[in-house]
Amino acid sequence: MKLYDQIIRDTEKLLGCAAQKQWDYSPEKAWTQTKSSELVLTRDAAYELGGDGKPSANYSCITEDQALVPKDEILLYGRDLSEINEDVPYARIALMTVSDMYDEDEELYKAIRDIEFVKYRVFPKGYMLRTSPESSKEQVRVDKSELHRGMSFEAIGAAYIQKYKENPRVKNVRMIFITDDAADYAALLAHAREVDAITKTLTHILEGFSTDCSSCKLKSLCDEVEGMREIHFKRNKKS
Ligand code: SF4
Repeated sequence: MKLYDQIIRDTEKLLGCAAQKQWDYSPEKAWTQTKSSELVLTRDAAYELGGDGKPSANYSCITEDQALVPKDEILLYGRDLSEINEDVPYARIALMTVSDMYDEDEELYKAIRDIEFVKYRVFPKGYMLRTSPESSKEQVRVDKSELHRGMSFEAIGAAYIQKYKENPRVKNVRMIFITDDAADYAALLAHAREVDAITKTLTHILEGFSTDCSSCKLKSLCDEVEGMREIHFKRNKKS
């Protein structure tokens, strides 16, 4: 399953190797989570990540190539939560390896959806998330008092990894947070939209689309995404 591998490589190229901070995952560092979405009132907020019209992007990619994500880790490009004093641009990217080939495409699709939906099930205390699936953007309102208690990207990243790893097929997770003003958010947003387009194409394939590539409106995407055609033709042979 190589559908998202090129986006993972392009993301690495875009960010370069110089993350400001890197932490290996420690489950005990995970920030406390609440049972449901956090409400942080404006008067209690220190700032917003991706707020005030600042650029923002959010996506997650899975791969079976363990070399692309060899361990659990958290990377930060830009300032950490305790170093920010105002609304800043923001991107959050989750790259992860999964074990086992999926015998059935439905199973693969379900796994992708389950992993994608994790972002709606992580509720770090004092970290109010607003995610827009249509725009591939995410905003976070950060609570002042939780910042004073030591909230950091290491702790938030560990909370995400902990949640992803509840799925036994998820092996390694790299959580990437970006708050650097100089990062190319437009390119990151373009990657987020590519991820979305790949997942939507998979949905069409599962709905029993014909395999006439010459007249298919998804051809340009299949020309670029390694492995998409194989999934469609394999599926067609079975039906
Ligand atoms: S494999 Fe061909 S028919 Fe199937 S979605 Fe891609 S371009 Fe369309």
